[in-house]
Amino acid sequence: MFKGNGASPGVGIGKVLLLKHEEMNIQKKIVQDVDGEEKRFLDAVQISKSELEKVKEKALRELGEDKAEIFGAHIMVLEDPELIDATVNKIKEESVNAEYAFKEISDMFIGIFENMDNEYMKERAADIKDVSNRVLRTLLGIEVVDLSNLDEEVILVTNDLTPSDTATMDKNKVLGFLTNIGGKTSHTAIMARTLEIPAVVGLKDVTDKVKSGDFIVFNGETGDVVLNPDENTINEYRKLKEEFDKNRKELEKYKGKESKTLDGRHVELAGNIGTPNDIEGLIKNDAEGVGLYRTEFLYMDRDDFPSEDEQFESYKAVLEAMNPKPIVIRTLDIGGDKELSYLKMDKEMNPFLGYRAIRLCLDRKDIFKTQLRALLRASMYGNLRIMFPMISSLEELLEAKNILEEVKTDLDRENISYSKDVQVGMMIEVPSAAIISDILAKHVDFFSIGTNDLIQYTCAVDRMNEKIHNLYNPFNPAVLRLIKLVIDNGHKEGKWVGMCGEVAGDKRLIPMLIGMGLDEFSMSPISILPARKLINSLSYEEMKKISDEALKLATADEIQEYLKKVFA
Ligand code: PEP
Ligand code: MG
Repeated sequence: MFKGNGASPGVGIGKVLLLKHEEMNIQKKIVQDVDGEEKRFLDAVQISKSELEKVKEKALRELGEDKAEIFGAHIMVLEDPELIDATVNKIKEESVNAEYAFKEISDMFIGIFENMDNEYMKERAADIKDVSNRVLRTLLGIEVVDLSNLDEEVILVTNDLTPSDTATMDKNKVLGFLTNIGGKTSHTAIMARTLEIPAVVGLKDVTDKVKSGDFIVFNGETGDVVLNPDENTINEYRKLKEEFDKNRKELEKYKGKESKTLDGRHVELAGNIGTPNDIEGLIKNDAEGVGLYRTEFLYMDRDDFPSEDEQFESYKAVLEAMNPKPIVIRTLDIGGDKELSYLKMDKEMNPFLGYRAIRLCLDRKDIFKTQLRALLRASMYGNLRIMFPMISSLEELLEAKNILEEVKTDLDRENISYSKDVQVGMMIEVPSAAIISDILAKHVDFFSIGTNDLIQYTCAVDRMNEKIHNLYNPFNPAVLRLIKLVIDNGHKEGKWVGMCGEVAGDKRLIPMLIGMGLDEFSMSPISILPARKLINSLSYEEMKKISDEALKLATADEIQEYLKKVFA
């Protein structure tokens, strides 16, 4: 049995599909049959081309023309005579193997394009690299798994999943994910919950322990995984799955119910989303709004920044679908574990402490202003709230707000309408912001506490590092005291305070958060109905006393034990 971090609830039972990004070991070899080698190369090009045609068609059907065009560009690379003829010539002239010849030639082109001063040309380097890897894998016989076209139901086992893996995969065939890396708040874990697919992450070396075709069962809540289980264990997990499915069905009756405590305190239960595709999950789980729309996914897995119009359409889709429910859209939070291939950023020693989120936006006003224009234009279609991430000082907040005002002035001048009622808030995810939240509260309409980062920055624990995962603890009294401070400071200024980090959906902590007076809870949509059920069973006055007691305790363990005892 292995143990990882339970990342998305549910029980997985099924056959393993191991996705291993095998190292491509390419060596120079002298060949006798030069014609045969040329044919092997041209065949591999042809196979790669027809694979790409299929991917392009599927992308066109499911993701739209823009995404499909990426693959169109890849096909064009394979039709480029300079690349193909030069490889054939090299095979012939030097009597070398196809892999070696093609790698040498494609690396040369990649180098040329990468060194050009033109952003468009630099992107071509990325296209060539992608395509060249595909051809090389075909030549080396390394299996390429197309996640969008799976023949049977599988449990994916891999090092980590990229946003494009999750965007293109066939969700009806993937019964679960198991990954080597990641914690409960890594973006793979967040994706799994959004897709409502059970998952365990941070299994360290699970990809070395299993092979495709193995049978596996796992519990996405506890993080337990059993490889090739005996009959008894399989039955045990089947029962667990039945129970899980039954509980989920029972939660249906909480749809349409108010989110209020026994003594009548109302809170708002909103959902966290990454793309307009997630609207379905919001509706299915009866979200009362969106407390966090992570816009960075709009910027990922593409060749260039999304245009103002593209962004406008995505924001409008969510605002319109959920109108008049409030939608908190967070401005670009790139950096940390989220990278953009087309935005060349210097390698940083500590990316989570580096050039990211609002810091990048204040530096690259062009990117920031485009997003703010799209947001304001979309505000005409629903109840928009704009939120800035990673604010660590008053200066940053005021600068971001100034830029927003500049954009409004531009729109006024151009006679473009936007709503005058857009609330402007900020995330509290950096301890410095929590500490001066009394000052910041005067300048915003709301706070939303981002515990995923607040824990990592307060306790100096990398949220992605499994080795120190035991230190990443939401029960840490330092974290809980900061949360209380922020809620109190917000309320003193008459502002509402929400939470959009994963703690907001954590059943173990919801009672304390209710007691602390949190107004809004935003979580993976799948957690909304269980949270409503729990909140309906609590008394606010009682929770206030319990949270006051808990906040006096000295350690995370003491707090956790105390809460367990109270709710036993
Ligand atoms: C957070 O830090 O709590 C948060 C919600 O933002 P993200 O997980 O996207 O960093
Ligand atoms: Mg964050």
